Amino acid sequence: MENKLNSYNPETFELLGSVDITNTNEIDKIVEKSKQAQTKWAKLSVDERISYLQKAGEVLNRRSQELAKLLSQEMGKDFNRATGEVIGCANDIIYKANEVKNAIKTQVFDRHGVKTELQYNALGVCAVISPWNYPMAMAHWVIIPALVAGNSVVYKPSEETPLIAKEYVEIFQSVLPKDVLQVVFGAEDQGKALVKSNVNLITFTGSKDVGKNIMKNASDGLKRLILELGGKDPLIVLNDANIDRAARFAVASSFENAGQMCTSSERIYVSKEIEEQFIQRVITYAKNYQVGSWNHPDTDIGPIINENQRTIIRKHIKDAIEKGATHHLGDINRNDSFIEPTVLSNVKDDMLVFKEETFGPVVAISSFETINEVIKRANSSDYALGASIFGRKDVDIVATELDAGMLGINQGNGSIGDTPWVGAKQSGFGYHGSADGHRQFTQPKVVTRRNR
Ligand code: NAD
Repeated sequence: MENKLNSYNPETFELLGSVDITNTNEIDKIVEKSKQAQTKWAKLSVDERISYLQKAGEVLNRRSQELAKLLSQEMGKDFNRATGEVIGCANDIIYKANEVKNAIKTQVFDRHGVKTELQYNALGVCAVISPWNYPMAMAHWVIIPALVAGNSVVYKPSEETPLIAKEYVEIFQSVLPKDVLQVVFGAEDQGKALVKSNVNLITFTGSKDVGKNIMKNASDGLKRLILELGGKDPLIVLNDANIDRAARFAVASSFENAGQMCTSSERIYVSKEIEEQFIQRVITYAKNYQVGSWNHPDTDIGPIINENQRTIIRKHIKDAIEKGATHHLGDINRNDSFIEPTVLSNVKDDMLVFKEETFGPVVAISSFETINEVIKRANSSDYALGASIFGRKDVDIVATELDAGMLGINQGNGSIGDTPWVGAKQSGFGYHGSADGHRQFTQPKVVTRRNR
């Protein structure tokens, strides 16, 4: 049996390297070792744990150029974006770690002579299962709080990006006590085996369908879950919006990371009154975007990660055109690893590009006539990760009614500062980031005592 997981450059299909696939029979043993390591790790003070992680941050920083190159080659995004991802991870370790430290401090309550402590103890072994689109950041965002809170981690990176995961893990392993962070390489089978193993918490970032399967498989042990799933974010442009700014954002947010971003604007609803002007501005901005190789200085949009994703994106574009959408931009006959920046208008709710996650560089525009209509249509999706609204007078009415975990008004949405990265409805639950989010990596324990 082939026991190597090969990693290919998504643009050139060149073999970049390989890792050993973890035998599913080994996973219980890995988790057992993790449990033993965790017992000692949790006994260290938070400051001691942070000092280990700080050293890893220094190595990440020192090696950022080389790591960014590998990340680009393996995932396809351009070198600047990859560098931003690596340095972002390196630099936020201490900030994040201190946030976690504050969030998990024991709280003491004193009432009628009865003292109550609210402790935030480690949960145990945390499984981290990640996607490929931000191959370092998506794992890092949960590995850091998990470790600072005193858990050990078994990490299952995406099968698309094992090489950058291997480097990341080895850097942390070079500074951490043995087995505090371990890695499992493979795909669905390894993910399933990890979920069914004796882990205490599963933090999963990925698609909705896999999230549902994980929830089912985790139910036996009633394992704790943090699920950061897909999105189908609406962008609503009201009749009194700054059209130029809204169009610029629509394009940037639809094309970022080649559209392979969970909070990308996937459904754009523009007021009929300004539709034509908006579309023209969108086309103007979209024409500035170029597909290309990771190491080309003009590249905005890299290759799509694999053939499966390209097939989905092409199918959505074709379905929209066949059902009557207007196709303004993007060569649909291109047959290599890229999808050209695409602009569609006159999109209808029954088209795939408005119903399912497209995850590609597509600006899909539809018009609306009333506020009530657009709220209803925007909320018709099972997903509710992010949403954005551009406009003035009615912005707050729409904001109050929209289903979303993160909402941007006249700008993008996302977690800024000490707020969580959070989805609503079927975009997940059990968020991370913020004091509440950090505490989800802990088991609260309430200890009540009298003084005698
Ligand atoms: P995916 O769900 O196909 O895979 C994610 C991970 O799960 C991979 O490591 C994969 O090997 C593993 N896996 C697959 N089947 C499994 C199973 N049955 N049990 C356990 N693990 C299993 O997702 P993907 O294609 O890697 O990533 C794209 C998806 O991730 C999109 O839906 C995107 O919206 C979502 N995403 C969400 C966020 C967020 O913060 N909400 C961030 C990034 C990506």
